[in-house]
Amino acid sequence: MATPAGKHSAVSPRSSGALLGRGPGTVQELRRLPAVPVPADGEAFASWVDRTAVAMGLSPGLAARALGLEYRTNDRVPALFGILPTPASLDGLCTTTGLQADVVETMHLSRYDGTILNFNALHPGYDKPLEHLLGKQWLQLTGSRACPHCLARSDVWPLWWRLGIAAVCPDHRCLLIDTCPACGIALRRGSKNTPGTLLRRTHVTLDLRECGNRQPNPGKPRSPTVCRQRIADTPPPGPGGSGRHPAARARHRRRGSSSAGGPAGHRRGLVRRPPLHRRTCPAGRSRR
Ligand SMILES: [Zn+2]
Ligand SMILES: [Zn+2]
Repeated sequence: MATPAGKHSAVSPRSSGALLGRGPGTVQELRRLPAVPVPADGEAFASWVDRTAVAMGLSPGLAARALGLEYRTNDRVPALFGILPTPASLDGLCTTTGLQADVVETMHLSRYDGTILNFNALHPGYDKPLEHLLGKQWLQLTGSRACPHCLARSDVWPLWWRLGIAAVCPDHRCLLIDTCPACGIALRRGSKNTPGTLLRRTHVTLDLRECGNRQPNPGKPRSPTVCRQRIADTPPPGPGGSGRHPAARARHRRRGSSSAGGPAGHRRGLVRRPPLHRRTCPAGRSRR
C-alpha cells in the first residue's frame, strides 16, 4: 500500500531538494517522493526498496538513487546495503521519504548486532568487501531464504530470512528454500558473478513474487536473462532435513527429528539492541 511520503510529515526546509553526494564523482539533487510503501513489520530493507521500485515504476537501481541511498566504492550496490544504514543513506531517506532513522535501522541486519550477530568490527565508514569482515557471521550477505507459502500471499520478505539460523517458517511449518530450482542461484542474490547488484537498466518490470535472478545472455551481454520462476510455485524441501540448506540439516542432525517451530533465535526472542546510529528526521514522524 503506497502512502504519500509527506502525508504524515511536516514540511521541512529540505523537502524541496537537497544536494548530496551520492557516489564517486556524482552529485544528485534529492527531492521528496510523492509516495512510498509503508515498511512492513519485520521487513528487510532490500524488500522495501524492491516494493518502492515497483510502486515508482523504476528499476531497483534507479529507485535506490531516487531514495538517496549512498553509493561509495562502486555503482552497483549502495554502501552496506541491507547490512548497516550509513549516515548519508539515513539523511537521504529522511529527505526523500521522511522515514525516521529508527524505522530504517530495524530493516537492516545490524538490528541483530549483539545477539546472534557480532558487528563490533563494522562501522558506517567501512568500504572494503564485507566477506572479509562478516564472512563467518550467521547471515547471508546477499540473497535470502524464503517461504514459498508466505510469498504466495505477500510481497514482503522478512529480515530474519537472511539469518543463518533461518530454517523453518513458523506459520507454515515448512523448511525455507534458499536456491531457485530454475536458475540454480541463491534467491535474491541477483547473479552468480556480481551478487547483490541493483540493476539500473532493465526493460523487465520487477515482479516481487518471481525469482528475478539474472543469467548471462550470450547474444545480448547487456541484457541478461531474467529468471521468471514464481517462488510461490517452488516446493519447499521435504521434512526431515532432506532439503538444501545447511541450517536445516544441522538442526535435524542435532535433534534427530524433523524441524518445526521456527528458527530458534527468532522464536526465543532475539533481543534487539538500540540502533547504532539513532537519528531523528526533522521532516516529521515515523510512518509505521
Ligand atoms: Zn511461511
Ligand atoms: Zn531463478
